[in-house]
Amino acid sequence: DVRVGVLALQGDVREHVVLLTHLGADVVRVRRPEQLEGIDGLVLPGGESSVIDTLARAFGLRDPVVAAIADGMPVYGTCAGLILLADRLSDGIAGQRTFGGLDATVRRNAFGGQAESFETELDVPAVGSSAVRATFIRAPVVESVGPAATPLATLPDGRIVAVEQGPILGTAFHPEVSGEERFHRRFLDRVREAV
Ligand code: GLN
Repeated sequence: DVRVGVLALQGDVREHVVLLTHLGADVVRVRRPEQLEGIDGLVLPGGESSVIDTLARAFGLRDPVVAAIADGMPVYGTCAGLILLADRLSDGIAGQRTFGGLDATVRRNAFGGQAESFETELDVPAVGSSAVRATFIRAPVVESVGPAATPLATLPDGRIVAVEQGPILGTAFHPEVSGEERFHRRFLDRVREAV
């Protein structure tokens, strides 16, 4: 089956590894640039985007990850991972950079702090007709998308919380913690199409 990486610098790496393994993928924890070479897709976990950015630069991973995304490798980011995929941040901390690739503007911590974390049910027609149980933890929102990106889900107030652009998928919530498999399946479908 396909081999996919989970960027394993910080954040909820284990939850993604468990789910992707359950879905039949061969999973590599990516901590060094060489580990990007044998993979067909990459997941960027939730965590703290500014920390992942700093560590990616320190470990020499930033440039190869940016290049892999630009080269069309399928990638899925949850929460901090979505932030890292955004071409533009409306409120990044000083010096914070993203990998980019997703034609969107993302706002970090859009709901407030940890105490404002919540779960809700979302309609996401792209993944199926039954509601998605979505867990938001200090979550971002997509403030706007450019012409290349397509919103997949919005909250009742209209804010975009899932987005896709070809092989790039991002969610502001964490399917890997709520037992929701359909986004990871969709990511693996993209990976299988690309190999
Ligand atoms: N607020 C975090 C950040 O800015 C993201 C939180 C999360 O991934 N659960 O990176």
